Amino acid sequence: MKQELIERFIRYVKVNTQSDPNSHTCPSTQGQWELARMLVEELKAIGMEDVTIDDNGYVMATLPANTDKNVPVIGFLAHMDTAPEFTGANVNPQIIEQYDGGDIVLNKEQGIILSPNDFPELAHYKGHTLITTDGTTLLGADDKAGIAEIMTAMNYLIQHPEIKHGKVRVAFTPDEEIGRGPHKFDVAKFGAQFAYTVDGGPLGELEYESFNAAEAKITIKGKNVHPGTAKGKMINSIKIAMEFQQQLPAHEAPEHTEGYEGFYHLLSFQGSVEETKLHYIIRDFDREQFEARKAKMKEIAASLAQKYGNDRITLEINDQYYNMREKIEPVRHIVDIAHEAMTNLGIEPKVKPIRGGTDGSQLSYMGLPTPNIFAGGENFHGRYEYISADNMVKAAEVIVEIIKLFEQKAS
Ligand SMILES: [Zn+2]
Repeated sequence: MKQELIERFIRYVKVNTQSDPNSHTCPSTQGQWELARMLVEELKAIGMEDVTIDDNGYVMATLPANTDKNVPVIGFLAHMDTAPEFTGANVNPQIIEQYDGGDIVLNKEQGIILSPNDFPELAHYKGHTLITTDGTTLLGADDKAGIAEIMTAMNYLIQHPEIKHGKVRVAFTPDEEIGRGPHKFDVAKFGAQFAYTVDGGPLGELEYESFNAAEAKITIKGKNVHPGTAKGKMINSIKIAMEFQQQLPAHEAPEHTEGYEGFYHLLSFQGSVEETKLHYIIRDFDREQFEARKAKMKEIAASLAQKYGNDRITLEINDQYYNMREKIEPVRHIVDIAHEAMTNLGIEPKVKPIRGGTDGSQLSYMGLPTPNIFAGGENFHGRYEYISADNMVKAAEVIVEIIKLFEQKAS
């Protein structure tokens, strides 16, 4: 299984699928089409059925049931794109057999080293087969590891018909990294009752809570007058914007929060006397607190409007996604089964809230409850990204075990 995983993974990462937030097409980039078509061929080649690719690049396939039991249809998803913030072109993966626990030279010429001094979790991987970058690109384990693991698990089940299972659906989706993964996902066509994204980090990760998320855009209009004759006339929009920011609680920011704590995050601040624009994201696990944060922003805007004039301040808040826990709690057994699958394989489940969102956060609200399980990678979205091939095997085994457990628990 390990060799098969490595081969698949390396084939996938060599296709540049970096997504582009400025593109309006779906998928946002051509490279994703290339990978999507490659995956369609592979799904057919291993013997999956109903292999489809739609006009938006969503790939779906079926592993038919081989039991008469009434097993719910479950799905597994992984995303094809890689993060826009670091190049995914010409990925040149390196394989380190029997990692010795020391420094890994990613790039000799440029002196780029993956060192346990900077990344102490490397210690967990002593003896593993590691796959790293050459220091000049990201790796794309997020989430091509997930794709390779799902594909390999399906192939394993097809090769082992003695393992009984219900119908399984798989999907490979575009543009997760730019938040659009589920936007054109056809939940009805997918036809699963529950699904798992295989898009988490290190071994054992199991997640079913995400942030509630919104973004806020504030535009402040000033009035520019020659500074020599500005008394009583000039209105400096930069200063009003600073006043806005200062009224937010200073410690409720990403750099001061962790665990279940929410925040306001000032993403950008661009201004001149005449006009200043602020862009925030708002995050909270608790729905009431989340609403309170949005209300707080509206209050501040209202008080500044009162002070400086109604037409000077516009505030626009858009919800982005919600905590999937609300939708997963009623079908809590899907988390319990993933937990049991890991325990059965000797993996310690690490259940933690995601300080972000996954495709599952949106899918859960579209009627497909979708927790997230580990794909195995570390240091996503940058040159130090790496993954253990041994843990990719574990992830594929977890997928198989989840499928088995659903069958065993059915009647
Ligand atoms: Zn991902």
